[in-house]
Amino acid sequence: MSPGNEGDTATASADVEFQYDSDFSEDSTPPDSENDDEIENSEQVIELMSRVPWYCWKAPTIPAGHFIWNCPGCDYAINFLNLTPKDVEPLGPELGKYLRSKKWPSLREEMASHGFGLMVGNHYNWHMHEKGVQLVKKGEKTFVEPWPAGTVVVKRETECV
Ligand SMILES: [Zn+2]
Repeated sequence: MSPGNEGDTATASADVEFQYDSDFSEDSTPPDSENDDEIENSEQVIELMSRVPWYCWKAPTIPAGHFIWNCPGCDYAINFLNLTPKDVEPLGPELGKYLRSKKWPSLREEMASHGFGLMVGNHYNWHMHEKGVQLVKKGEKTFVEPWPAGTVVVKRETECV
């Protein structure tokens, strides 16, 4: 039943590059000058970035020979040897079925690694939505934005996990 030994640490394929988002055109009143706008935006972005839990900045990994990923921020775990329908929900039926079949040779295999990244990404989104932020991919870059989209940014104390 073992999917085989792994020679290396499995890392989700999606390495994200985080950037300050300078485009906050939708959620604030028109500024008096462009200068004020820049200052306001960078403060907003720093505040938003401070809400993103630290572990959401990192690509999730599973050590070689292990098949369980534990969320650093809560009790949620993904057990690749016993995936639940809810675990694979973000993957769509085909990839979900494939991962649950345990026919993948290792978690480094492309589809398994892709599925792992999607599942963790989906779970991290939930953590970030709780904090009122989201990461939005635009081309090759990822930006921090308020969540739900279009909400006005309200400054508040950061609650670190
Ligand atoms: Zn979690």
